[in-house]
Amino acid sequence: MATIAFIGLGNMGNPMAANLVKSGHSVQGFDLLPGNLRIAAESGVTVMASAAAAVSGAEVVITMLPAGGHVVSVYEDIAPKALNDSLFIDCSTIDVESARKAHEIAGRYHLLSIDAPVSGGVGGAAAGTLTFMAGGSNQAFARAEPILQPMAGRIVHCGEAGSGQAAKICNNMILGISMIGVSEAFVLAEKLGLSHQALFDVASTSSGQCWSLNTYCPVPGPVPASPANQAYKPGFAAALMLKDLKLAQEAAQAANAATPLGAHAAQLYNMFNAHGHGGDDFSGIVNFLRGILPE
Ligand code: NAD
Repeated sequence: MATIAFIGLGNMGNPMAANLVKSGHSVQGFDLLPGNLRIAAESGVTVMASAAAAVSGAEVVITMLPAGGHVVSVYEDIAPKALNDSLFIDCSTIDVESARKAHEIAGRYHLLSIDAPVSGGVGGAAAGTLTFMAGGSNQAFARAEPILQPMAGRIVHCGEAGSGQAAKICNNMILGISMIGVSEAFVLAEKLGLSHQALFDVASTSSGQCWSLNTYCPVPGPVPASPANQAYKPGFAAALMLKDLKLAQEAAQAANAATPLGAHAAQLYNMFNAHGHGGDDFSGIVNFLRGILPE
């Protein structure tokens, strides 16, 4: 069992750290918010006074922070203080450029590092069923895999440094576009006098099927567990979808990739957020589309 520093104990980090404790690891945690530190202490995390204190004596350092700037500045702070040969795992969803910068900082101090963003949300974090998308060397991945196991349903080594973030933003660009596509189909069906259930019964078993329809249906009724049946309580908040779509657009511009639907999806989620729906589940975009379509 390892001593693991866990920095960033928010909605995702806290349940992930709790699963590491449950599997027998010794977890030294730090977060800027006292309330999150209290929750961590309740699940057996040893609360530390700073990020630097958390990494002392830790063989593995996990970060779960809001954005690229946070990860780079925390890495600048802690990498010089980390144990020789320790392994850095960043699970935050961040831009590919910051992810590569974080690897570069770790490399400067001869530390192994992987980017390992997740999908599965707060529910997957609590259940220990997250999908991890990892980027980094074979050596770093081999060391990271058993550490990630208690938090994971699936762990995929996507390639070299930054590949995990690349996989995450490509996946979530598909998700944002497909949710808008499915929502548009329901709005059109309403205008054509076709019931939600009838469209679902046909499309969910035909060529229109996809996760946004079959598992996460954006209208109430056909899939009882989807957020549409709980007044669009997230689930996956629209603000986080917007964040990921913006990361995809930044990456597309930097790589000179054509992503016109990704760009349009980012614009629509930007409008949805600007109208005060950032805290709604991202499938609530169906109501917004209904509202902006001409009568
Ligand atoms: P969160 O805001 O709940 O948690 C982030 C935590 O980081 C906060 O508690 C904050 O206080 C802490 N923090 C910020 N700067 C810090 C610093 N310098 N030192 C220590 N702690 C610091 O966010 P979250 O929902 O837990 O998401 C974390 C990451 O996971 C994000 O990158 C997000 O995009 C990604 N993610 C979230 C979900 C989800 O459903 N919530 C799903 C997949 C991926």
